[in-house]
Amino acid sequence: MAVLDQLTSQQAIDLENKYGAHNYHPLPVVLSRGEGVYVWDVEGKQYYDFLSAYSAVNQGHCHPKIVGAMTSQAQNLTLTSRAFYNNVLGKYEKFACEFFGFDKLLPMNTGAEAVETALKLCRKWAYEVKGIDENEAEIIVCENNFHGRTTTIISFSNDPVARKNFGPFTKGFIKIEYDNLEALEEALKNNPNVGGFLVEPIQGEAGVYVPSEGYLTKAKALCEKYNVLFIADEVQTGIARTGRLLAVNHENVTPDILILGKALSGGAYPVSAVLANDNIMNVIKPGNHGSTFGGNPVAAAVAIAALTVVKEEGLSDNAETLGQLFRSELNKFIETSSIAKLVRGKGLLNAILINDEEESDTAWNICLALRDNGLLAKPTHGNIIRFAPPLVMTEEQLLDCVDIIIKTLKQFEK
Ligand SMILES: *Cc1c(COP(=O)(O)O)cnc(C)c1O
Repeated sequence: MAVLDQLTSQQAIDLENKYGAHNYHPLPVVLSRGEGVYVWDVEGKQYYDFLSAYSAVNQGHCHPKIVGAMTSQAQNLTLTSRAFYNNVLGKYEKFACEFFGFDKLLPMNTGAEAVETALKLCRKWAYEVKGIDENEAEIIVCENNFHGRTTTIISFSNDPVARKNFGPFTKGFIKIEYDNLEALEEALKNNPNVGGFLVEPIQGEAGVYVPSEGYLTKAKALCEKYNVLFIADEVQTGIARTGRLLAVNHENVTPDILILGKALSGGAYPVSAVLANDNIMNVIKPGNHGSTFGGNPVAAAVAIAALTVVKEEGLSDNAETLGQLFRSELNKFIETSSIAKLVRGKGLLNAILINDEEESDTAWNICLALRDNGLLAKPTHGNIIRFAPPLVMTEEQLLDCVDIIIKTLKQFEK
């Protein structure tokens, strides 16, 4: 078969199964085109995308401004490495620092790399500024976290599927319960070796767990009290997804270290970043850290365009408004439903809890039925389905989607 032959869905799935490592279990749908809130499969069927590539495509599929910036930069200069300067990186760094309110940015590519970067930055700060003895620094993390897939990051995951037979693991992490301030203070007090607290403002992969109101503010205050860096992983929650530019903005918290990825490029290209002020970022000196592709001119041009779109199109406000509408419509249905237990979330990062065993395949089967009805979503853990459409959605489209979701859930009422 020639590479450019049109494949049927089944042929494409068979090829991935035969030649690709089986490290994912995709919903059986083969997409070949995307525009705005829609994607199309190879047979031409149209779907609402209700995953947005795990919130990477907040600006909508193939946004013309982002694709335009990417293609025009790609025709000029794609990669210099950081051995030389390029004429776009500095512009992007200034733009993003002003956009998010930090002194400096360190450019990487994937979310996991940015988390790794933040951990290294935190440790170096802990030794060189806080004065912790070498190799003694510890970082507090939360149970049920998701921060990516590197060896160090899975070292402090508690997902057995992500960890089993990948050891030995990296030391230096203390795990505490999420949304538990007493546990945080307990871990901070009488332990001068803590350098940082790494937290997701909403736990996305875990099933869109929204912490109690005030948790982030108080956690930040505790970090200040014990001279510990508050590190926000906003790879999924950031860039307007939750109805604010950053999820920490709901509580007016400024992290010491901010981690961004996913929608920083609008899904066009892998772009991630770590932002911090000079008193922290200046511990990084030439040679301490790097990435061949990090800060490349295509990434820089794409990120400027992606952030510009967020602002110009008012995506935070749209996510806030549509998110409230989504939850209120679904809540009306849930009152009388036996299959859906609750809906939770902020902005357009939401999840519904399916009334069945965590190990059951009901959520998966609902996602198959949603697909048949023209909407793509995926279970996070077991019986939880995440709903995260592109933020460029209109109210009319959202109500159309609510109809599809409710109609589908009704097929599963007992
Ligand atoms: C997706 C995600 C990551 C990892 O990003 P990759 O680009 O897949 O490496 C890290 N943290 C959070 C909160 C995420 O949602």
